[in-house]
Order: sequence, then structure tokens, then C-alpha cells
Amino acid sequence: MQTPSHFIMTAALRYPLRRQTIRISTWGLLIGSILPDIPFTLLTIIYEIYYRIAGISVPAPSIMEYLHFDLFFNDPIWIVGHNTFHSLVVNGVLLVIGYWLYRKNGRTFLFWLAAMTLLHTVIDIFTHSSDGPLFLFPLNWTYRFASPVSYWETANGAVYFAIFEYTLDALLLGFVGRKYLQHRKGNTNAT
Ligand SMILES: [Zn+2]
Repeated sequence: MQTPSHFIMTAALRYPLRRQTIRISTWGLLIGSILPDIPFTLLTIIYEIYYRIAGISVPAPSIMEYLHFDLFFNDPIWIVGHNTFHSLVVNGVLLVIGYWLYRKNGRTFLFWLAAMTLLHTVIDIFTHSSDGPLFLFPLNWTYRFASPVSYWETANGAVYFAIFEYTLDALLLGFVGRKYLQHRKGNTNAT
């Protein structure tokens, strides 16, 4: 799924999650929803600029294709960067540490951050066909689940999935907007 969709979904999920016994950390939730994709975005920007400025020619039709179809699968920096927070193993360990911190001193940031990086990873596993996350990283550096559905590969239903994804985004944004207005109205009435 696209990074903004992960963010919107988590922003909406914040409302039902508020009923949980573990007090939510809004920052933990929102950062955790997009954290797995941040290294990929930064690597793309840095490498694109570097290759252009240095004038390095690449063995692909474009720098972007070289980065996303070659380095993404073969370069250790890209593999570590992209898969550290797209790993069920890493995120699972962080969730356990987060829960331990919550029990120890009541801090919930890491717990909710890890809960959302886990949710992000599970969604990505089922919405990527050829380029799914190495969700067993760092125990396994090559295994990717080939989902029959891809959010971007047209051979795997990307056109239909995009309709679903944008519709879901619009509905969730409407929901979050309504909740926000209700909250503001409540505050105004209270003053
Ligand atoms: Zn992702």
C-alpha cells in the first residue's frame, strides 16, 4: 500500500484504539505507521541526487529503475534500510520491549510505534507481489511472500486495488474529519 494510506488508516484506527487499556501514544501510532517506508524514501532521494551530480551512468534505462529494481534487491544498504522496520522479527522484538517499558514505567510510545510498524508490515506482505518485504529479516535476507495482489503491478490487479485503496482513503479521511469536527464542537460547547 502507499505510504499516505498507511498513515490515514492509522489516524482512523486511533479512535477505536482509544478504548484499549494501554493508553495510546498518538506520536507512536503516527510515526510507526510510516516509519518502515522512510529509509526507502531517503535512499531514493539521496542516491538519485548523488548519481545525477556525480554523472554516474547506470546499467538500467533510468537511475530510478536502477535503484528500485537492482539495488533494492541486491545492495546490503538498501536491503537493511528497507527491511529493518518491514520485519515481523524486528518489530515483534520492539513490541515486546515496548510492552516491558509500559509495564515498567507506563511509557507507551514504543509499544504503539511497534504495533503500527507490525500492522504496516502485515499489510505490505499482502499487497506486494514481486517486491514484498523480507519479513523474516535479519534471519532471512531473501524470502519474500509473492502476494496474488499488488498495489502497483498491473498484472496483479493493481488497477482494481487502486480503486479500493483510494475509496478506503476517502472514507477514512471523512471519518477522521467528522471526529475532529465533533471534538472541536465539544470543546467549543465546553468553554
Ligand atoms: Zn511499506
